[in-house]
Amino acid sequence: MFVKALALIAALAAATPAKAQDDVHEHAPTGVLGDCDGRGWDDPAPPVHVYANVYDIGTCGITALLIASPEGHVVIDAADTPGAQIIAGNIAALGFDPKDVKLLLLSHEHFDHSGGLAELAQITGAPVAALPHTAELLKSGKADPADPQASELRGMAPVAVTRIVHDGEVMQVGPIAVTIHATPAHAPGSASYTWESCASGTCQRMAYVDSLTTFGLGGYRFTDHPQVVAAARAAFAKVAALPCDIVMSPHPQATSMYQRIEGDKPLVDADGCKAYAQRAEAGLDRLLAKEASQ
Ligand SMILES: [Zn+2]
Ligand SMILES: [Zn+2]
Repeated sequence: MFVKALALIAALAAATPAKAQDDVHEHAPTGVLGDCDGRGWDDPAPPVHVYANVYDIGTCGITALLIASPEGHVVIDAADTPGAQIIAGNIAALGFDPKDVKLLLLSHEHFDHSGGLAELAQITGAPVAALPHTAELLKSGKADPADPQASELRGMAPVAVTRIVHDGEVMQVGPIAVTIHATPAHAPGSASYTWESCASGTCQRMAYVDSLTTFGLGGYRFTDHPQVVAAARAAFAKVAALPCDIVMSPHPQATSMYQRIEGDKPLVDADGCKAYAQRAEAGLDRLLAKEASQ
């Protein structure tokens, strides 16, 4: 598997970064599932080509996305603390310069996605943009006490957020235009992102949709927080309506990302966001029914 991973890195590194925006990559088997067998969220994984100029450059089990362009790149998510070095290494392995990253974004403020963000900002020198509430949490490095998982969440290195963005705002890096969508279901600061990526004249509506699972820890009951339940249901409806041909998620298995990249399931699925939202809403309904029976 190690040799396979090296071959993959070599193949991806051979791709010409300058052509990335419109380049067509054959979908060679990634081997990423095998490479990560028995390994964890803090372990390195090889970069994985998703579509056109989009790559998963995260760790084993935690997604971080690179959206590449000749005029600078966007990176979404940073995994936990070891993720910063792993992500920077994967950017370099693809033949790109981490210093060409011009914007850093985050799915949500839990440490398994944000722990590496402060160091990644240092390595790349890129500004971090976040929704107002998320920005406050990142600056403090502390978990949100209103988070259903607050009792188990640890803090993270504080992150200097340089740009506050609002729901629906478009962020531009060269030809890349990414829209941020507030989708507070899994965490109070949850955000999802949409943009278009094109290969050989075929453009797909890309959607990186945050975790949608609703679960509480430390005795938290959603039944006691109707406003949190209402916000989650509104987020599910919003996700279902996103422009979405290729859905991706911070935890790859939530949208069968690797199976779809490897061709075991269709990568392009215009119902991908809708199905993801429906699964999440069914999960919330099950949770509320369980709480009602206790
Ligand atoms: Zn989380
Ligand atoms: Zn997570």
